Formats: sequence, C-alpha cells, structure tokens
Amino acid sequence: MAKYKVDASLNDDAFVLASVEEALEALKDGEFGIGAALVKDGEIILRAHNSQLSNKRSDLHAEMTLINMFENHPELKKHRKLFNIDENIVLYSSTEPCPMCLTRIAICELASKYGAGSDLDGMAHLMFYSFLFMGFS
Ligand SMILES: [Zn+2]
Repeated sequence: MAKYKVDASLNDDAFVLASVEEALEALKDGEFGIGAALVKDGEIILRAHNSQLSNKRSDLHAEMTLINMFENHPELKKHRKLFNIDENIVLYSSTEPCPMCLTRIAICELASKYGAGSDLDGMAHLMFYSFLFMGFS
C-alpha cells in the first residue's frame, strides 16, 4: 500500500485509499478487514475500521464505528440535522456494506461510495448465497 500513489485525476481515489488503509489496520489488529472514511468538502474528517473481535461487539463494523464517532464528536455535531447528516459529508467504505450498516447509512441519509474490489467482495453477493444456503430463493 505504501507504494500506491493517489491518481489525482480520480476524484475519489484518496478517499477510497483511506478506507483501504483502515481495512489493512483492521487486519493487523486481527479484525475483519473492512475500513471506512468520512469526507467533508474534500477533506477526510474521520476514519475507522472494524473492531468487532477485540471489543466482542457484533455491531462495531467500520461504518457503524465511523457514524458513532461522528455522532459523539463535539465539533462535528453541528453538521447533524435531527436524524440526518449534512449531505455534503460522504462515507467511503472499503467494501459494500452489510444490511445493518446500509440501513444506518440510509437512516442518516449519508451519501456513500464503496471501494469493493469486485462483485464477489460485496455483501449483497454474500447475502444472496447465504439465502440460497438457508433455503430462501
Ligand atoms: Zn456492516
């Protein structure tokens, strides 16, 4: 990752890279390798990664942790509108979010972008096959 240089012609490249760097930090910590970054006006304001295993908490996915950090941050609360977050704030995730995170992102009305490597890496794909294994179709 240290050798990768951000492509300035790609507007989202630096932000996707930040989410991937967080995913690598999660792996170094022995967690599931998923990371996320929150961006406002072209600046990364928060970064987080999955911490489920070390905290023994099933909800501490990267995206959930990032939104928790935002909602608890005294300076960033000014960008909060009731249940929504300023529409100029964009969440980047290293992969397609799971249904829990996707629901929370939708409730907060956050714009979101994903850096999933392929369709096989995304949660929608995994959910489809999980339902097949459980007998749903
Ligand atoms: Zn999730």
